[in-house]
Amino acid sequence: MASSSEPAAKPHVLLIPYPAQGHVNPLLRLAKALHLRSFHVTFVHTEHNHGRLLRSRGTGAVEGADGFRFETIPDGLPPAAELDATQDIWKLCEATRRTCPGPVRELIQRLNRTEGVPPVSCVIADGAMGFVVHVAKEMGLPAYLFFTPSACGFLAYLNFDQLVKRGYVPFKDESCLTNKHDGGYLDTALDWVTGMISNIRLRDFPTFIRTTDADDVMVTINIKQCELDAPAADGIVLNTFDDLESTALAAIRARLPNTFTIGPLVSLPPYLPSLASSLWKEDSVCTRWLDQQADGSVVYVNFGSITVVAREQMAEFARGLAGAGSPFLWVVRPDMVRDGGETSTPLPEGFVEEVAGRGLMVGWCDQEAVLEHRATGGFLTHCGWNSTLESLHAGVPMVCWPFFAEQVTNCRYTCDEWGVGLELARDAGREEVVAAVRELMADGGEMRRKAAEWKNKAEKAVAVGGSSKGNLERFVKEIARVNR
Ligand code: UDP
Repeated sequence: MASSSEPAAKPHVLLIPYPAQGHVNPLLRLAKALHLRSFHVTFVHTEHNHGRLLRSRGTGAVEGADGFRFETIPDGLPPAAELDATQDIWKLCEATRRTCPGPVRELIQRLNRTEGVPPVSCVIADGAMGFVVHVAKEMGLPAYLFFTPSACGFLAYLNFDQLVKRGYVPFKDESCLTNKHDGGYLDTALDWVTGMISNIRLRDFPTFIRTTDADDVMVTINIKQCELDAPAADGIVLNTFDDLESTALAAIRARLPNTFTIGPLVSLPPYLPSLASSLWKEDSVCTRWLDQQADGSVVYVNFGSITVVAREQMAEFARGLAGAGSPFLWVVRPDMVRDGGETSTPLPEGFVEEVAGRGLMVGWCDQEAVLEHRATGGFLTHCGWNSTLESLHAGVPMVCWPFFAEQVTNCRYTCDEWGVGLELARDAGREEVVAAVRELMADGGEMRRKAAEWKNKAEKAVAVGGSSKGNLERFVKEIARVNR
């Protein structure tokens, strides 16, 4: 304990994201919120992502700020052949679990020996880095887990053990994997799951359950995170708000009472804007291009940071998007199409020239700014949780085209529970894309009205007197107790 004559050391929080874009972004926003509230902050990137940040920003160092430092740890994967492509998240889950505990322990020890840096007083790790909780506990530190999925997605993961115990998972054979809405195995109703919408089906559960392997890595890791890591943590943080997911949250809190809902964590207005987290270089033409478009006229298309699309499907989608007739801004990551494991040119030949003037394709953008722009009228999204929440926060209705993980759960809730989305079938052809985009961009309509309502509720949640703002301040108070 500090003697009464010494000034009290600042609380020092160590934040460790899972090393993927959709995990780094919300945790960095939380880190800034804590720094704003006088915490000393250390934010930990993997060496691989640190290298990507340097390249995307064209600098020799990722700068911190006064009382805000960046540190790195290895991720355990061999050096990547393609330096700026998304890493294999399946391999990364295993590799981080195996490799990172030692480096995290050593980092904390080193920080505690560093002059002028207050000792680490609390650790916040991504739920997918749940093993960090055990390292922190061994060192006598309080530890919290930040789960980046929606509450409905997280609740689905919390039920993975039940799916296994009740014999739904692993699937008995490959025939169960067919994704057609034909009353097959994936359409099995799960009416016993507490806290989820009443007609939830196996197909609405994170796609990791779609395996015939009893020892499947993603099922095993997710069960571990929910059964061993989350209960060992001092608390859970979720990027959502109570009004949006009250039923799912009640079921989560019944198992994990100290759960803080502090979302939507958005980065507008900017605080410490130089501390950015985009792993790709943002294209600066988007805002200028959007400025030239009419209000609510543009459909914005983005499949997030991990999704990979087959070449034929990409071509079919491109034809549909162009055929729908609305101006569009489409983020096409350079590593979005793969042929035989190799990244290759994603768009069909001649497409860029064909749509010039009414379609803009860029490699990466500032998504929050695009969604908030007055010209953006609809979002065709893969339903990653950050994208969904950023769209709700901006009041933009969606076409939902989920690919994997809890994107399918988010899609179901976006369309059927929150009333702001239309689902596009996984194998949609150009006609379906045309129809969905036209419906999305049609004037007026229930979805647009609902989107405006959710925007309002999301803003209220983070404003003074709102549930998320109150929870954040409560969380801050709880972790500010310097543990020495
Ligand atoms: N994002 C961005 N620019 C892009 C694409 C994505 O800034 O061109 C950000 C987006 O705002 C979100 C994150 O990257 O915060 C993607 O997370 P999400 O959960 O939506 O999807 P994931 O990438 O994890 O599949």
